[in-house]
Amino acid sequence: MSARKPLIAGNWKMFKTTGEAESFTKALFEKTQTLKSGLPEILLCPPYTALAVTEETVRKLKAPFAVGAQNMESKDNGAYTGEISPVMLKDMGIRWVLIGHSERRQYYNETDAGVNAKVKAALVHGLTPVICVGESLSERESGVTDSLIQQQVKAALKDVDALVYPTLVFAYEPVWAIGTGKVCEAPEANRVCGLIRKTLSAQGDGSQTRVLYGGSVKPDNIAELMRGGDIDGALVGGASLEPESFYKIIAGSVPVNA
Ligand code: PEP
Repeated sequence: MSARKPLIAGNWKMFKTTGEAESFTKALFEKTQTLKSGLPEILLCPPYTALAVTEETVRKLKAPFAVGAQNMESKDNGAYTGEISPVMLKDMGIRWVLIGHSERRQYYNETDAGVNAKVKAALVHGLTPVICVGESLSERESGVTDSLIQQQVKAALKDVDALVYPTLVFAYEPVWAIGTGKVCEAPEANRVCGLIRKTLSAQGDGSQTRVLYGGSVKPDNIAELMRGGDIDGALVGGASLEPESFYKIIAGSVPVNA
């Protein structure tokens, strides 16, 4: 039995006003109160504009939720119009950050080197990075999935002390499965998550590092995904936007008699 605590993270992307974020957080809290045993760790990643209200709502309710940003700049401050720094996130009480989401890589030209700089900045400032990696459909079809994933993992961790590996979180998110309704088959998702852990273990100890799967996770596929042993939870986009579907994923991620 793995000692790694399951983690279910919701990525709201560019959705939710402050009012919507507040009512979502309250509704999810009420639902999780009914699940007395075996809650996984729960992370909410609102857009920047709703971080403060979400963090405040969680704090006031004493809800067992963490709050994270969806991205950040690697620099502490400076002339970077439109960017948000790790110092600013820390100042708001934020302790988690998604790094290298495929939408950042695809639409905002985020590179492996940029991901590495952000991972290092997150660690310097005591933020837990959720490092996203994943192959496109053409990369999968041309048989380079494994080498690409290994390369993304190694690049993200360039010059990162292996002693911190246990504190890191990775998310394997095949690009072709994100927002498409095409979930990666559970055995294959589990295999690639295992590969990420093995890649870490070649340089340090990956046995405690949590590896999530992301890509069209829904209430009806979470239990099967969690069964393989190498998937420690999920990074959820679309199905994290409604309290009911996100709650069902949370409830489905822990064995009934956990
Ligand atoms: C995501 O945005 O990280 C994601 C996995 O989205 P979806 O669950 O909608 O596929």
